[in-house]
Amino acid sequence: MTQPFLVPPGTHVNLADYDPGYTGDYEKKSAAKAARKDNVKRLQALQEVLWAEGKHSLLVVLQALDAGGKDGTIKHVMRGVNPQGCQVTSFKVPTEEELAHDYLWRIHQAVPRRGYIGIFNRSHYEDVLVVRVHNLVPESVWQQRYDEINHFEEMLADNGTTILKFFLYISKDEQKERFEERLQDPKKNWKFSMSDVRERDHWDEYIAAYEDALSRCSTPWAPWHIVPADHKWYRNLVVSGAMVQALEKLDMHFPPPLPDADQIAIPD
Ligand code: AMP
Ligand code: MG
Repeated sequence: MTQPFLVPPGTHVNLADYDPGYTGDYEKKSAAKAARKDNVKRLQALQEVLWAEGKHSLLVVLQALDAGGKDGTIKHVMRGVNPQGCQVTSFKVPTEEELAHDYLWRIHQAVPRRGYIGIFNRSHYEDVLVVRVHNLVPESVWQQRYDEINHFEEMLADNGTTILKFFLYISKDEQKERFEERLQDPKKNWKFSMSDVRERDHWDEYIAAYEDALSRCSTPWAPWHIVPADHKWYRNLVVSGAMVQALEKLDMHFPPPLPDADQIAIPD
């Protein structure tokens, strides 16, 4: 059975229907890796036109439970893309100043300008995820945010930003393995945090919060993708493929050639 990635707007997502270990037609890493490399090459070419044309921007939102692979996705998918036209923003616990503003204030500032690809490592969705799971604001406040987020994203889309949102979906077993690997490998110890273990206790609440965010905020202008992420190589293939597809749809062109380019003499 094929597993869809795109969440059709208006549908209710039940994550139990999705297999985090799904790998589609790919049984092995090698073929998927080759296909991912092709996507990355294509992405490099598309980014060049995006940059040259300066008309659109692409915003990629990455969300996942801890150890879900946000960092790895950025590393493998954005590899080779011209750093000048790419901007990664990681959203942490809000600072005092950020908390003194509305929750979208810091987000809006990080939206990529025309010509750029922007990657959000965590995002405004934390404001209906961690905030909801830990009761950081009353329910009446976070309940309003789904509509607010949809409107905000629609405004961005109307202004030339293509938005792609990816939920990197790993299984609870895979998360355990990744935490254990971080503990066993001294080179990965730094990635481990006791708070990740504490968050794991809230697994079911996070899943419920994700199901609501995916169901209520997958829109025609900013669709959610559920990416099977237990296999890193498949995850990278899916994300890079969706980015290529979205950029190809933009029908971008290099600015027209100079009419008299052949008549301009460059002085010696
Ligand atoms: P990391 O991505 O591992 O560096 O961790 C960043 C931490 O910041 C995570 O524990 C997030 O849950 C937390 N975080 C991000 N955005 C928010 C937010 N809006 N409110 C509260 N915590 C947040
Ligand atoms: Mg972390």
